Amino acid sequence: AKGLGKNQYCVYTDEMGVQEIRKMELEKDLQRALEHNEFFIVYQPKWNVKTNQLFGFEALLRWQHPRLGVVSPSEFIPIAEETGLIIPMTRWTLEQACHQCRVWNARGIDQPVSVNLSVRLFQPDILLEWIQNVLEEAGLDPHYLELEITESMVFYDVNDIIHQLENIRKLGVRVSMDDFGTGYSSIGLLDRMPIDALKLDRLFTNDLDTPGKRAIIHAIILMAERLHLDVIAEGVENEEHIEFLTQLGCYVMQGYFYGKPMNGEEMITWIEGHNE
Ligand code: C2E
Ligand code: CA
Ligand code: CA
Ligand code: CA
Repeated sequence: AKGLGKNQYCVYTDEMGVQEIRKMELEKDLQRALEHNEFFIVYQPKWNVKTNQLFGFEALLRWQHPRLGVVSPSEFIPIAEETGLIIPMTRWTLEQACHQCRVWNARGIDQPVSVNLSVRLFQPDILLEWIQNVLEEAGLDPHYLELEITESMVFYDVNDIIHQLENIRKLGVRVSMDDFGTGYSSIGLLDRMPIDALKLDRLFTNDLDTPGKRAIIHAIILMAERLHLDVIAEGVENEEHIEFLTQLGCYVMQGYFYGKPMNGEEMITWIEGHNE
Protein backbone atom coordinates (compact mmCIF):
# COMPACT_ATOMS: atom_id res chain seq x y z
CA ALA A 1 0.00 0.00 0.00
CA LYS A 2 2.88 2.29 0.79
CA GLY A 3 4.44 1.69 -2.63
CA LEU A 4 1.18 2.55 -4.39
CA GLY A 5 0.91 5.74 -2.38
CA LYS A 6 4.35 6.72 -3.50
CA ASN A 7 3.51 6.07 -7.16
CA GLN A 8 0.36 8.11 -6.96
CA TYR A 9 2.33 10.89 -5.38
CA CYS A 10 4.75 10.85 -8.32
CA VAL A 11 1.98 10.95 -10.94
CA TYR A 12 0.35 13.79 -9.07
CA THR A 13 3.48 15.95 -8.96
CA ASP A 14 4.15 15.29 -12.65
CA GLU A 15 0.69 16.51 -13.54
CA MET A 16 1.06 19.53 -11.31
CA GLY A 17 4.24 20.31 -13.19
CA VAL A 18 2.50 20.27 -16.56
CA GLN A 19 -0.35 22.40 -15.26
CA GLU A 20 1.99 24.90 -13.67
CA ILE A 21 3.99 25.23 -16.87
CA ARG A 22 0.84 25.74 -18.92
CA LYS A 23 -0.40 28.36 -16.49
CA MET A 24 2.88 30.26 -16.66
CA GLU A 25 2.78 30.14 -20.43
CA LEU A 26 -0.80 31.39 -20.57
CA GLU A 27 0.00 34.12 -18.08
CA LYS A 28 2.86 35.34 -20.23
CA ASP A 29 0.88 35.14 -23.51
CA LEU A 30 -2.25 36.76 -22.11
CA GLN A 31 -0.39 40.06 -21.86
CA ARG A 32 -0.22 40.33 -25.63
CA ALA A 33 -3.40 38.53 -26.59
CA LEU A 34 -5.48 41.70 -26.73
CA GLU A 35 -3.08 43.64 -29.00
CA HIS A 36 -2.67 40.56 -31.18
CA ASN A 37 -6.42 40.27 -31.66
CA GLU A 38 -6.54 36.74 -30.30
CA PHE A 39 -9.87 37.08 -28.55
CA PHE A 40 -13.24 36.49 -30.08
CA ILE A 41 -16.74 36.32 -28.72
CA VAL A 42 -19.37 33.66 -29.11
CA TYR A 43 -23.00 34.18 -28.21
CA GLN A 44 -25.48 31.77 -26.70
CA PRO A 45 -29.24 32.26 -27.02
CA LYS A 46 -31.66 32.22 -24.09
CA TRP A 47 -35.09 30.91 -24.93
CA ASN A 48 -38.47 31.54 -23.31
CA VAL A 49 -40.44 28.30 -23.61
CA LYS A 50 -43.68 29.94 -22.47
CA THR A 51 -43.80 32.51 -25.27
CA ASN A 52 -41.63 30.44 -27.63
CA GLN A 53 -39.39 33.43 -28.19
CA LEU A 54 -35.81 34.46 -27.83
CA PHE A 55 -34.85 36.03 -24.52
CA GLY A 56 -31.53 37.60 -25.51
CA PHE A 57 -27.96 36.38 -25.88
CA GLU A 58 -25.01 35.91 -23.58
CA ALA A 59 -21.55 36.95 -24.78
CA LEU A 60 -18.85 34.42 -23.90
CA LEU A 61 -15.18 35.17 -24.41
CA ARG A 62 -12.79 32.84 -26.27
CA TRP A 63 -9.04 32.99 -26.71
CA GLN A 64 -7.54 31.70 -29.94
CA HIS A 65 -4.05 30.93 -28.71
CA PRO A 66 -1.47 30.78 -31.54
CA ARG A 67 -0.06 27.40 -30.41
CA LEU A 68 -2.52 25.92 -27.94
CA GLY A 69 -5.72 26.47 -29.93
CA VAL A 70 -8.89 27.76 -28.31
CA VAL A 71 -8.43 28.22 -24.57
CA SER A 72 -11.49 28.11 -22.32
CA PRO A 73 -12.44 31.15 -20.25
CA SER A 74 -12.53 29.00 -17.12
CA GLU A 75 -8.79 28.69 -17.64
CA PHE A 76 -7.80 32.23 -18.64
CA ILE A 77 -10.34 34.40 -16.77
CA PRO A 78 -8.83 33.55 -13.35
CA ILE A 79 -5.39 34.50 -14.71
CA ALA A 80 -6.80 37.71 -16.15
CA GLU A 81 -8.33 38.50 -12.77
CA GLU A 82 -5.05 37.89 -10.93
CA THR A 83 -3.05 40.05 -13.33
CA GLY A 84 -5.62 42.83 -13.74
CA LEU A 85 -5.84 42.20 -17.49
CA ILE A 86 -9.51 41.44 -16.96
CA ILE A 87 -10.13 45.21 -16.96
CA PRO A 88 -9.02 46.00 -20.54
CA MET A 89 -10.37 42.62 -21.69
CA THR A 90 -13.82 43.42 -20.37
CA ARG A 91 -13.77 46.84 -21.96
CA TRP A 92 -13.07 45.15 -25.30
CA THR A 93 -15.81 42.57 -24.69
CA LEU A 94 -18.36 45.27 -23.88
CA GLU A 95 -17.45 47.16 -27.06
CA GLN A 96 -17.67 44.07 -29.24
CA ALA A 97 -20.92 42.83 -27.74
CA CYS A 98 -22.61 46.24 -28.07
CA HIS A 99 -21.41 46.55 -31.64
CA GLN A 100 -22.69 43.06 -32.46
CA CYS A 101 -26.02 43.90 -30.91
CA ARG A 102 -26.30 46.91 -33.22
CA VAL A 103 -25.50 44.70 -36.21
CA TRP A 104 -28.27 42.31 -35.16
CA ASN A 105 -30.62 45.27 -34.66
CA ALA A 106 -29.96 46.36 -38.23
CA ARG A 107 -30.89 42.84 -39.34
CA GLY A 108 -34.19 43.05 -37.48
CA ILE A 109 -33.12 41.10 -34.39
CA ASP A 110 -34.48 43.02 -31.46
CA GLN A 111 -32.77 41.29 -28.51
CA PRO A 112 -30.49 42.28 -25.62
CA VAL A 113 -26.95 41.00 -25.13
CA SER A 114 -25.42 40.20 -21.75
CA VAL A 115 -21.79 40.51 -20.73
CA ASN A 116 -20.14 38.79 -17.76
CA LEU A 117 -18.46 41.06 -15.23
CA SER A 118 -15.78 40.00 -12.82
CA VAL A 119 -15.98 41.63 -9.40
CA ARG A 120 -12.63 43.27 -10.18
CA LEU A 121 -14.43 45.63 -12.55
CA PHE A 122 -16.03 47.35 -9.58
CA GLN A 123 -12.80 48.20 -7.83
CA PRO A 124 -11.77 51.27 -9.72
CA ASP A 125 -15.03 53.21 -9.94
CA ILE A 126 -15.00 53.29 -13.76
CA LEU A 127 -17.86 51.09 -14.84
CA LEU A 128 -20.64 53.65 -15.09
CA GLU A 129 -18.57 55.94 -17.30
CA TRP A 130 -17.36 53.05 -19.42
CA ILE A 131 -20.83 51.79 -20.05
CA GLN A 132 -22.08 55.23 -21.00
CA ASN A 133 -19.17 55.61 -23.42
CA VAL A 134 -19.46 52.15 -24.92
CA LEU A 135 -23.21 52.51 -25.47
CA GLU A 136 -22.74 55.91 -27.02
CA GLU A 137 -19.95 54.75 -29.35
CA ALA A 138 -22.02 51.76 -30.45
CA GLY A 139 -25.16 53.90 -30.76
CA LEU A 140 -26.98 51.29 -28.69
CA ASP A 141 -30.01 51.90 -26.50
CA PRO A 142 -29.12 50.93 -22.87
CA HIS A 143 -32.07 48.53 -22.74
CA TYR A 144 -30.15 46.23 -25.05
CA LEU A 145 -27.32 45.72 -22.60
CA GLU A 146 -27.36 43.39 -19.63
CA LEU A 147 -24.58 42.71 -17.13
CA GLU A 148 -24.08 39.39 -15.36
CA ILE A 149 -22.51 39.54 -11.92
CA THR A 150 -21.80 36.73 -9.45
CA GLU A 151 -22.39 36.09 -5.80
CA SER A 152 -18.69 36.14 -4.95
CA MET A 153 -18.91 39.91 -4.77
CA VAL A 154 -20.27 39.65 -1.23
CA PHE A 155 -16.62 39.37 -0.19
CA TYR A 156 -15.97 42.87 -1.43
CA ASP A 157 -17.45 46.20 -0.54
CA VAL A 158 -21.06 45.25 -1.10
CA ASN A 159 -22.43 48.71 -0.40
CA ASP A 160 -20.14 50.23 -2.98
CA ILE A 161 -21.07 47.61 -5.59
CA ILE A 162 -24.77 48.13 -4.91
CA HIS A 163 -24.30 51.87 -5.33
CA GLN A 164 -22.47 51.44 -8.66
CA LEU A 165 -25.07 49.00 -9.93
CA GLU A 166 -27.92 51.32 -8.99
CA ASN A 167 -26.40 54.09 -11.09
CA ILE A 168 -25.81 51.77 -14.02
CA ARG A 169 -29.35 50.48 -13.82
CA LYS A 170 -30.67 54.05 -13.87
CA LEU A 171 -29.33 54.22 -17.43
CA GLY A 172 -31.70 51.38 -18.33
CA VAL A 173 -29.10 48.61 -18.35
CA ARG A 174 -30.28 45.29 -16.89
CA VAL A 175 -28.37 43.32 -14.28
CA SER A 176 -28.58 39.63 -13.47
CA MET A 177 -27.08 37.46 -10.76
CA ASP A 178 -25.16 34.64 -12.38
CA ASP A 179 -24.48 31.12 -11.02
CA PHE A 180 -27.05 31.69 -8.33
CA GLY A 181 -26.96 29.17 -5.50
CA THR A 182 -23.42 27.94 -5.97
CA GLY A 183 -21.25 30.44 -4.18
CA TYR A 184 -21.46 31.77 -0.69
CA SER A 185 -25.02 32.56 -0.96
CA SER A 186 -26.16 36.10 -0.95
CA ILE A 187 -29.78 35.29 -0.14
CA GLY A 188 -29.66 37.70 2.78
CA LEU A 189 -28.69 40.49 0.38
CA LEU A 190 -31.02 39.62 -2.43
CA ASP A 191 -33.73 42.13 -1.54
CA ARG A 192 -31.11 44.89 -1.55
CA MET A 193 -29.48 43.92 -4.80
CA PRO A 194 -30.38 46.12 -7.77
CA ILE A 195 -30.97 43.20 -10.13
CA ASP A 196 -33.55 42.07 -12.66
CA ALA A 197 -32.90 38.34 -12.91
CA LEU A 198 -31.38 35.26 -11.32
CA LYS A 199 -29.52 32.66 -13.32
CA LEU A 200 -29.70 29.18 -11.83
CA ASP A 201 -26.37 27.47 -12.13
CA ARG A 202 -25.99 24.52 -14.47
CA LEU A 203 -25.33 22.28 -11.45
CA PHE A 204 -28.99 22.61 -10.46
CA THR A 205 -30.34 21.81 -13.91
CA ASN A 206 -28.22 18.67 -14.01
CA ASP A 207 -29.25 17.50 -10.59
CA LEU A 208 -33.05 17.69 -10.49
CA ASP A 209 -33.69 14.02 -9.96
CA THR A 210 -34.18 14.05 -6.20
CA PRO A 211 -37.25 15.54 -4.46
CA GLY A 212 -34.91 17.51 -2.19
CA LYS A 213 -33.15 19.23 -5.08
CA ARG A 214 -36.45 20.02 -6.76
CA ALA A 215 -37.73 21.53 -3.50
CA ILE A 216 -34.73 23.86 -3.37
CA ILE A 217 -35.15 25.02 -6.96
CA HIS A 218 -38.86 25.47 -6.47
CA ALA A 219 -38.23 27.64 -3.40
CA ILE A 220 -35.69 29.76 -5.31
CA ILE A 221 -38.16 30.25 -8.16
CA LEU A 222 -40.96 31.29 -5.77
CA MET A 223 -38.63 33.68 -3.98
CA ALA A 224 -37.55 35.20 -7.29
CA GLU A 225 -41.19 35.71 -8.29
CA ARG A 226 -41.89 37.53 -5.04
CA LEU A 227 -38.88 39.74 -5.66
CA HIS A 228 -40.05 40.35 -9.28
CA LEU A 229 -36.95 38.74 -10.73
CA ASP A 230 -36.78 36.69 -13.92
CA VAL A 231 -35.29 33.22 -13.56
CA ILE A 232 -33.05 31.74 -16.24
CA ALA A 233 -31.90 28.11 -16.06
CA GLU A 234 -28.42 27.36 -17.37
CA GLY A 235 -27.10 24.12 -18.82
CA VAL A 236 -30.39 22.94 -20.30
CA GLU A 237 -29.37 19.93 -22.35
CA ASN A 238 -32.45 17.74 -22.83
CA GLU A 239 -36.24 17.42 -22.77
CA GLU A 240 -36.16 16.03 -19.26
CA HIS A 241 -34.49 19.21 -17.96
CA ILE A 242 -37.13 21.34 -19.67
CA GLU A 243 -39.94 19.26 -18.25
CA PHE A 244 -38.64 19.49 -14.67
CA LEU A 245 -37.91 23.19 -14.92
CA THR A 246 -41.26 24.17 -16.40
CA GLN A 247 -43.06 22.10 -13.73
CA LEU A 248 -41.21 24.17 -11.15
CA GLY A 249 -42.16 27.46 -12.83
CA CYS A 250 -38.96 28.29 -14.69
CA TYR A 251 -39.53 29.20 -18.34
CA VAL A 252 -36.35 30.79 -19.60
CA MET A 253 -33.70 28.31 -20.70
CA GLN A 254 -30.12 28.53 -21.82
CA GLY A 255 -28.15 25.48 -22.87
CA TYR A 256 -26.95 23.17 -25.59
CA PHE A 257 -30.47 21.88 -26.19
CA TYR A 258 -31.46 25.26 -27.67
CA GLY A 259 -28.16 26.49 -28.99
CA LYS A 260 -24.45 26.23 -28.37
CA PRO A 261 -22.38 29.40 -28.20
CA MET A 262 -21.81 30.64 -31.79
CA ASN A 263 -20.45 33.68 -33.60
CA GLY A 264 -22.55 36.66 -34.60
CA GLU A 265 -23.17 35.52 -38.18
CA GLU A 266 -23.99 31.95 -37.16
CA MET A 267 -26.50 33.39 -34.75
CA ILE A 268 -28.35 35.11 -37.59
CA THR A 269 -28.62 31.77 -39.40
CA TRP A 270 -29.73 30.08 -36.18
CA ILE A 271 -32.47 32.67 -35.68
CA GLU A 272 -33.67 32.35 -39.25
CA GLY A 273 -33.94 28.58 -38.67
CA HIS A 274 -36.02 29.15 -35.55
CA ASN A 275 -38.42 31.58 -37.18
CA GLU A 276 -39.51 29.15 -39.82
P1 C2E B 1 -21.08 31.24 -17.18
O1 C2E B 1 -21.25 32.72 -17.18
O2 C2E B 1 -21.82 30.45 -16.16
O3 C2E B 1 -21.41 30.77 -18.66
C1 C2E B 1 -22.07 29.59 -18.98
C2 C2E B 1 -21.08 28.51 -19.35
O4 C2E B 1 -21.80 27.28 -19.55
C3 C2E B 1 -20.39 28.77 -20.68
O5 C2E B 1 -19.09 28.20 -20.58
C4 C2E B 1 -21.23 27.99 -21.68
O6 C2E B 1 -20.53 27.66 -22.85
C5 C2E B 1 -21.56 26.77 -20.84
N1 C2E B 1 -22.80 26.11 -21.27
C6 C2E B 1 -23.87 26.66 -21.84
N2 C2E B 1 -24.85 25.76 -22.07
C7 C2E B 1 -24.38 24.58 -21.60
C8 C2E B 1 -24.93 23.25 -21.56
O7 C2E B 1 -26.05 22.98 -21.97
N3 C2E B 1 -24.13 22.30 -20.99
C9 C2E B 1 -22.88 22.56 -20.51
N4 C2E B 1 -22.19 21.55 -20.01
N5 C2E B 1 -22.35 23.80 -20.55
C10 C2E B 1 -23.08 24.80 -21.08
P2 C2E B 1 -17.82 28.99 -21.07
O8 C2E B 1 -18.13 29.77 -22.31
O9 C2E B 1 -16.68 28.01 -21.09
O10 C2E B 1 -17.56 30.04 -19.94
C11 C2E B 1 -17.17 29.64 -18.64
C12 C2E B 1 -17.24 30.79 -17.69
O11 C2E B 1 -16.24 31.77 -18.00
C13 C2E B 1 -18.56 31.57 -17.76
O12 C2E B 1 -19.51 30.86 -17.00
C14 C2E B 1 -18.16 32.88 -17.14
O13 C2E B 1 -18.18 32.80 -15.74
C15 C2E B 1 -16.73 33.03 -17.60
N6 C2E B 1 -16.67 33.99 -18.72
C16 C2E B 1 -16.88 33.78 -20.05
N7 C2E B 1 -16.74 34.93 -20.75
C17 C2E B 1 -16.43 35.90 -19.82
C18 C2E B 1 -16.16 37.30 -19.90
O14 C2E B 1 -16.19 37.95 -20.96
N8 C2E B 1 -15.87 37.93 -18.70
C19 C2E B 1 -15.85 37.28 -17.52
N9 C2E B 1 -15.56 37.98 -16.40
N10 C2E B 1 -16.12 35.96 -17.40
C20 C2E B 1 -16.39 35.28 -18.56
CA1 CA C 1 -22.81 34.19 -17.24
CA1 CA D 1 -23.67 31.09 -15.10
CA1 CA E 1 -21.47 28.66 -14.32
